[in-house]
Amino acid sequence: MYEKVSIPEIFGMNVFNDSMMRDHLPKHVYEELKKTIERGEMLNSSIADIIANAMKDWAIERGATHYTHWFQPMTGITAEKHDSFLAPPVNGRAIMEFSGKELIKGESDASSFPSGGLRATFEARGYTAWDCTSPAFLREDAGGVTLYIPTAFCSYTGEALDKKTPLLRSMEAVSNQAMRILRLFGNTTAKKISVYAGAEQEYFLIDRELYNKRKDLIFTGRTLFGAAPPKGQELDDHYFGSIKERIACFMHELNVELWKLGVSAKTQHNEVAPAQHELAPIFSDCNTATDHNQLIMEAMKRIASHHGLACLLHEKPFAGVNGSGKHNNWSMGTDDGQNLLDPGKTPHENAQFLIFLTAIIKGVDQYADILRVSAASHGNDHRLGAAEAPPAIISIFLGDQLQDIFDQIEHGEATSSLQGGKMRVGVNTLPYLNRDATDRNRTSPLAFTGNKFEFRMPPSSGSISGPNFVFNTIVADALKEFADQLEKAEDFNEAVHDLIRDTYIAHKRIIFDGNGYSEEWKQEAARRGLPNISNTVDAIPALITDKAISLFERHHVLSRLELHSRAEINYEAYIKQINIEAKTMIDIASKQIRPAVLKYAGSVAQSLAAIKSVGGDTSVAEELLQEINENIVQFHKALKHLEEVAEQAQLLQGSSRSQAVFCRDYVFEAMQALRVPADALEMLVDEDVWPFPTYGELLYNI
Ligand code: ADP
Ligand code: MG
Repeated sequence: MYEKVSIPEIFGMNVFNDSMMRDHLPKHVYEELKKTIERGEMLNSSIADIIANAMKDWAIERGATHYTHWFQPMTGITAEKHDSFLAPPVNGRAIMEFSGKELIKGESDASSFPSGGLRATFEARGYTAWDCTSPAFLREDAGGVTLYIPTAFCSYTGEALDKKTPLLRSMEAVSNQAMRILRLFGNTTAKKISVYAGAEQEYFLIDRELYNKRKDLIFTGRTLFGAAPPKGQELDDHYFGSIKERIACFMHELNVELWKLGVSAKTQHNEVAPAQHELAPIFSDCNTATDHNQLIMEAMKRIASHHGLACLLHEKPFAGVNGSGKHNNWSMGTDDGQNLLDPGKTPHENAQFLIFLTAIIKGVDQYADILRVSAASHGNDHRLGAAEAPPAIISIFLGDQLQDIFDQIEHGEATSSLQGGKMRVGVNTLPYLNRDATDRNRTSPLAFTGNKFEFRMPPSSGSISGPNFVFNTIVADALKEFADQLEKAEDFNEAVHDLIRDTYIAHKRIIFDGNGYSEEWKQEAARRGLPNISNTVDAIPALITDKAISLFERHHVLSRLELHSRAEINYEAYIKQINIEAKTMIDIASKQIRPAVLKYAGSVAQSLAAIKSVGGDTSVAEELLQEINENIVQFHKALKHLEEVAEQAQLLQGSSRSQAVFCRDYVFEAMQALRVPADALEMLVDEDVWPFPTYGELLYNI
């Protein structure tokens, strides 16, 4: 039964947020902490004890028994180790303690997290450091209540081993450079620039019992076999369709949990593919948005099981229907509330906006390959460029209004801005609608959408840290160049105009407003010299070019060593995922599909013999048997081949790049080859004999 909720009453109730801190901390401590959070000043360790104690009391009052430093290692998911608040008992009585030291710093074994060669297994020490800019929160479930403290994770020698550290560093970089520009435009009030992100999360929900019967979903998150069902997404009847009750119950429980955690879950709807849905929270600063996105993904998986459902976050759980992505909406603004990407009514007069916009165009063109790798993952390779998601070529969509302004600037002076005007729907009782000055373009990887950029490439299962820290850094870099130049200018207005024009002319090849899914665009992009990087293995080297190393070092976001380790981690993840998929396929093919098909073929042979014995027409049974036979022979050959190359892959020596290339060119190819006869066999065999649920059942039995 639906439980009535009041959002204002529950929102943020499990978060040690600003108002909780104000209520629970002495005034001077609260003010010190605010200085750290808002101005990025170092936290005075003498006040840490007081904060820790207040946090502990607040948490214990709400039933917490444990606390944990919550961090985001390079696995892309979060990690936690729980400690109870219990201190050594005194006279047999329990004492609950939580010190400033325990709040600020944790020490743990880092050797079992991916480090890309930064750490040998015997050099195990790693540290977690409290990130006070993302509030601590309580997680409550049937297992108890725990205080979660968001932290950054680094090695004994200080290298970042996580997704949060470069993000925080990049936010500082973009703030520093954007402030220089703002000062030049005469802004003396803003103290800091924040970067905002709003991530739209796509996901699938399927029945859990069916899920449990599919080893491929359990081990790899996607189906490795499966013939297309009679109905896919061709009728467009799922997108924005009415939400089924079971799904609505899931969404309700999810929303309530997220609201309590201060996550502003806002929009929910059915997506394009059957069984696919989306949740979008309201945007927030990109550090909390990243933490919140992790909480959203984790809550989705957990809460799905309460409703007999399984949540699939994989980028391509099913062949033949759309996969899932995560649109990352990005903007930046001042601490006094000005969105720097808001063009205003007459953008041609808004030189400050045009400077920021031009910096983004320049950054994206110059570092398209790095932005591309920020969205690369083994799962996303199935999606990008497959005419369901943006192509693998980075380009920017500006829309008519801004395009027109740049055209004017290119040929002289911009003197006007196109306006949207009013629109009549043609029914007298309906109101006039304000038409936007620009239509949408859903095929663009990076679209300007009114007052923000929407980056549509990121993978649904990944952290949004990567796309955001790359975006922040490339924008910071362009802004730095602009500031260096403009600070020296004699005539500021003229310098701004020239800078916008020259930069636009130099980088306009990155702007494209046509159909990004089309073949012509691929050819046109090649003529323009834009990189078209179709898969993860080819995307990774962009992390360790001289250009990338100097970019990230210049802004103190990642060092050469850290970049090399990240490239290594990406290769390793790719190799491991392909290996797991290959082994799962071999397992299913040998232990489930082959026996089922042989058994069925046996029964057809028996039928054939029976028909023959009474002198009947055996042609149907013969034809069927022959088709099964042809496919099972091909299937068996493909299986043997996959076994061979998978074994070779395990034995490969040499660089992880060469191993990843082998996995892509041989193992992955062999997997594709095995799937073809298997899916053909599914269409030939009695459905009662088929050893696991079909696409039709998975996508429609909700
Ligand atoms: P769409 O129509 O593109 O599917 P949604 O409403 O699903 O849009 O999601 C848009 C996302 O963009 C939301 O998370 C929203 O909060 C976020 N967003 C809106 N304005 C900004 C902004 N200025 N900066 C960053 N993100 C924003
Ligand atoms: Mg959306």
